[in-house]
Order: sequence, then structure tokens, then C-alpha cells
Amino acid sequence: MLGAVTHSTARRLDGFGTTIFAEMSALAARTGAINLGQGFPDTGGPAALLERARTAIAGGDNQYAPGQGVSPLREAIARHQQRHYGIALDPDRQVVVTTGATEAIAAAVLGLVDPGDEVIVFEPFFDSYVAMVQMAGAVPKPVTLRVPDFRLPVEELRAAVGPRTRAILVNSPHNPTGALLTDGELAVLAEVACEHDLVVISDEVYEHLTFDGVRHRSLGSVPGLADRTVVVSSAGKTFSVTGWKVGWATGPADLVGAVLSAKQWLSYSSGTPFQGAVAWALEHVGDFVAGLRADLQSQRDLLCDGLGEVGFTVYRPQGTYFATTDIRPLGFADGLDFCRRLPDLAGVVAIPQQVLHLDPERGRPFVRWAFCKRSDVIKEALERLGKLRG
Ligand code: PMP
Repeated sequence: MLGAVTHSTARRLDGFGTTIFAEMSALAARTGAINLGQGFPDTGGPAALLERARTAIAGGDNQYAPGQGVSPLREAIARHQQRHYGIALDPDRQVVVTTGATEAIAAAVLGLVDPGDEVIVFEPFFDSYVAMVQMAGAVPKPVTLRVPDFRLPVEELRAAVGPRTRAILVNSPHNPTGALLTDGELAVLAEVACEHDLVVISDEVYEHLTFDGVRHRSLGSVPGLADRTVVVSSAGKTFSVTGWKVGWATGPADLVGAVLSAKQWLSYSSGTPFQGAVAWALEHVGDFVAGLRADLQSQRDLLCDGLGEVGFTVYRPQGTYFATTDIRPLGFADGLDFCRRLPDLAGVVAIPQQVLHLDPERGRPFVRWAFCKRSDVIKEALERLGKLRG
């Protein structure tokens, strides 16, 4: 008799089931609930940008791009960093195109962090960070951002750094809290990173999605951080094309070289016809981005005001697609249980933040809602949530 085949998942994936975003989007699809969970816009990117990708495909731009990315895109990214943040980059040595910011983060961790190293992560975190740190054989060290304003806890950051610390993973504007690092916090990060000779991986995918006149400052432009930071961003949020998965990493040549070394074994290269289109967009759709920012700000206000009226405690964000709430004023205690029941209770899907913490206890009562949705969708969701008012 032939032996039974047993398959088990590798230990590097221990503790990671399905990402919460996939679980909650599947729940929305299954139940027909309004999906305020996963962060993707329900309106398209600029028509001229979409047309550029179609033209590139029709014109035969369909074979492997160079691993580092096509040069018009690398040049456009370098000019973008110069224009917005005053950062000078050599597009041949200091820019690499990746398959979304997700691959840039993965390649940065794999390329710069050794097994056994420690990596500081701010929680609640974008869940790929901790998965990648663990897959690299390294150890995540959490520093918790807390309500009401999610400021950097300086003493806790200092206490989290030890002899094995290699890197700090930063995200500003921050998903899920919507907080932006202040100049003072950036100075503290620079001080800590310099004192302990740490590498910083800075996820800036929401760099252009900020509100109330607040502007993002790239870590690549901060003295003390500029020469030790890999800056990561992507086209997905800025141009409302999250499915294109065109991202990039920029920074000092040695750090970017390490990212490219890892990236070549992950995907080798990224979607060719989208790269030229994104290169064009980085310089030609400023009006679209300004309009998107204004729309998102009014959608934020619509959602936050409405959630407040339902009875949640709402933490109004300065940027991103997301608002955080505390569910306890409505008599709930556990965000995961609440979100799993929410399609039945009110026909809406949201994201429990406890899964974005290493110790779920720290995030138990907090739930994230996406407002990158049309106003009529948000209004309908709020009307449904009115049922929770009791
Ligand atoms: N970082 C953060 C903070 C995000 O919110 C997301 C997308 N939700 C990503 C990275 C992934 O970006 P991409 O789709 O370009 O891989």
C-alpha cells in the first residue's frame, strides 16, 4: 500500500492563517454586506492612466521588464522624491521597482535582516510586516501606539531597542490609525536609529493621502535618517489602482542594492505595461491626486461623524483610507467577535484591530473602517449601522 501523504505548512508561517483582509472580504462577498474592511477604492484611477496601460499592452509591451524596473519609471520616481521632499536620488543605483509596496517590504526585510535579529514594529501594524519578519527568521519587537492620538511612545521605543535590534519598520501616514509622525517624533527616530546604528524601513504608501492641510514628510529627507532609511511607496493608493501592484523602494545605494538582491529571487521583475503608465502618472495627474485627497477628506468626515452618531468613540485620522473606533460604548468588547457578527447584525464588514497586534489583548476593542468608498456606499453603511444604536 502506498503511504499517506501528509502536508504541513512550514514553521516560518506558524501563527499566520489567512490575512484578516482576505477573511473579511470573503465574508462580505458571502453575505452581501457592505465592505468597509479591505482598503481599496470603489472608484477607478484617472482615465488617461488606464488608457496608457491599455495602449502599452496593445503595443506589445508584454515581456519581462528589467529586474530593477524600466528606466522611465525609475527616473520619474527619482524626480518625484526630489519634487516633493527635496531628496536627490540616482535612478540607476537608488531606485528599485517592486511588485507593490508589499514586495518592497518583503525584499527589504529579507535583504537587510538576518535570522535572530530583532525588528521594531509599531502596532497596530499592517499585517505583512510581522509575517515577513518571522519568515526572515527574525523577531518582531512591538511598540504600541495608543488612543487617543497614537503618538510615538518615546520611552517605550528606547526600551524596545536591544543589542540584537537591526531595524525599525515605520509607517507614516499610519495604517490603521491614520496618524502622521510629527517633526519631533522623526527627530527621536533619527536619534534612536543613529545611536544604535539601525536600518529603517519606512512604508509611505499613503504619502499623498493626507487631510486638513497636513503634509507628509518622507523619512528619506530627515537628517540622521536619510542615509539609513529604505523608503517604500507604491502607485496603488496615490492613483487608485491598488490591483496594479507597482511599488518601489528608494534610498542609499547599498540599502537599495540589498532590496534588489532579494527582489530578484522573489518576482525577478514587475508588470511591464503598468510601469510606463505609472511613470507618466507620477508627473501628469496632480489634479487627480488633489481631487482624491479632497474626496477622501469629505468621505472621512461623513464616516467619522456617522460612526460617532451611532455611538462609537471615533479617532479621526489625519491621513490614509481608515478610521479607528472603540466599540465599547455600544456594549461590545471584542473586535474580532464583533466584526464576524457585523454582517448579521447590520450588513457591514469592518476590520478588527486585535489581529494587528502581537498581543491581541492590546487591540481588542478597536475596529477599523475604510472610507475609500463612494459617499452613497458610506451613507448606506451608516444607515445600516444605525441598528446598533439600541
Ligand atoms: N503598506 C500599507 C501600510 C498598506 O496599507 C498597504 C495596502 N493596504 C500596503 C503596504 C501594500 O501596498 P501594495 O498594494 O502596493 O503592495
